[in-house]
Amino acid sequence: MNYEAVIGLEVHAQLLTKSKIFCSCSTQFGSEPNTQTCPVCLGMPGVLPVANREVINMAIKTSLALNCKINNYGRFARKNYFYPDLPKNYQISQYEEPLSEHGYLEIDVNGKRKKIGIVRIHIEEDAGKNIHENVVDGSYVDLNRTGVPLMEIVSEPDINTPEEARAYLTQLKNILLYLEVCDCNMEEGSLRCDANISVRPVGQKEFGTKTEIKNMNSFSNLQKALEYEIERQVDILQDGGRIVQETRLWDPSSGTTASMRSKEEAHDYRYFPCPDLVPVVVDEEWIENIKKTLPELPDEKKQRFVSQYGIPEYDAGVITASKALADYYEKVAAIYNDAKKVSNWVMGELLRLLKEDEKEISDILITPENFASLLQLIDKGTISGKIAKTVFEEMYKNGKTPDEIVEEKGLEQVSDEGEIAGIIDRVLAENTKQVEQYLGGKEKVAGFFVGQVMKATSGKANPGLVNKILKEKLEAMKNK
Ligand SMILES: [Zn+2]
Repeated sequence: MNYEAVIGLEVHAQLLTKSKIFCSCSTQFGSEPNTQTCPVCLGMPGVLPVANREVINMAIKTSLALNCKINNYGRFARKNYFYPDLPKNYQISQYEEPLSEHGYLEIDVNGKRKKIGIVRIHIEEDAGKNIHENVVDGSYVDLNRTGVPLMEIVSEPDINTPEEARAYLTQLKNILLYLEVCDCNMEEGSLRCDANISVRPVGQKEFGTKTEIKNMNSFSNLQKALEYEIERQVDILQDGGRIVQETRLWDPSSGTTASMRSKEEAHDYRYFPCPDLVPVVVDEEWIENIKKTLPELPDEKKQRFVSQYGIPEYDAGVITASKALADYYEKVAAIYNDAKKVSNWVMGELLRLLKEDEKEISDILITPENFASLLQLIDKGTISGKIAKTVFEEMYKNGKTPDEIVEEKGLEQVSDEGEIAGIIDRVLAENTKQVEQYLGGKEKVAGFFVGQVMKATSGKANPGLVNKILKEKLEAMKNK
């Protein structure tokens, strides 16, 4: 029997506000434990939380970008549970009246576009962090994180494969970065993802029993965890077993998921409307004002690149997958007018080097001006395309201009016909066997001579001239 997976993702994104959601404490990452706290986020009795308007602005912005319907009336709720990192014993969240609902985003997988529904977006506060490492007896708790604003984005179970899940998370991250509402740093926990997953025989309408996987802190972990979990569930069903509804944790070191708690033990949250906070009333004017601040989003930018720069959709997709990269590309393309050549170099050399070093485009030392002048050097014939790659790598390492590097390293292309002719004469004289082969009709040997000339000039000979002069000389020998 063939099975298909049904996957829904819950993404927690930390909003990029300077202060927390209900108090004025800083949200800065990495400070000394418990230095960014006050009576409100410590959950002292008698204090009153006040909602940070910037948090709501950012959530509205995201809701608009994800095509959600914004509820004019959103109410905060207390989600009651006991855990040491939650001093109030409840988390302020939204429950029956979330900020927005019924949106979607679109993904491209294997050349196919698919719409993934968004159930809801709500805002809530984060909890603190228990520390068990390097503690001799017991555990410590760091409450710097308590009250940091989170936005929870819940997808419909429209995702059917691990690849689609990855594409969804990638696209969502991209949109959040474009909106500048989250830094999406998965290592620091500012973007976190849980998945609900079940399998069912292909063709069956009803969903199977689902499990929830937590603790996926990277794109590859998300994909691997889902692949593992689908296989695990299918194996159980094929052996006539039953899936237990439970929460499972992904362990990247073993590449498996393990049961964390079953449904029976799972938290039974009791939600109450929060009496301390006034409802969030979002009127049309507020929405309209936020709408005006919406930037060009990845899909729009991609379409514009195709029409404005005439580059293939594929190139436009790769380049607009990062706002910073797209901005960089536009700066180079504004100076150098062959946009396709720019996209070739960006996608080829630039992305290769960034990937090798695990660096971001924001780290790059090559200015758009230097990038463009390198391409101009190729056009002028000062350097060959091959040498240009060496120059580019140098520029990438030290930020120098291409002219400086060409000068310093003596990389200027040899375009002196007399000099090239001399080198060709020498190569032909040194390789009489190959010359005979050529004259005997084996014309492919010409490539060998070109290679020898390039070697003799450390790749600096102008390839067009080498081919032309070589051909003239060989033809002359033939006709002798
Ligand atoms: Zn505080």
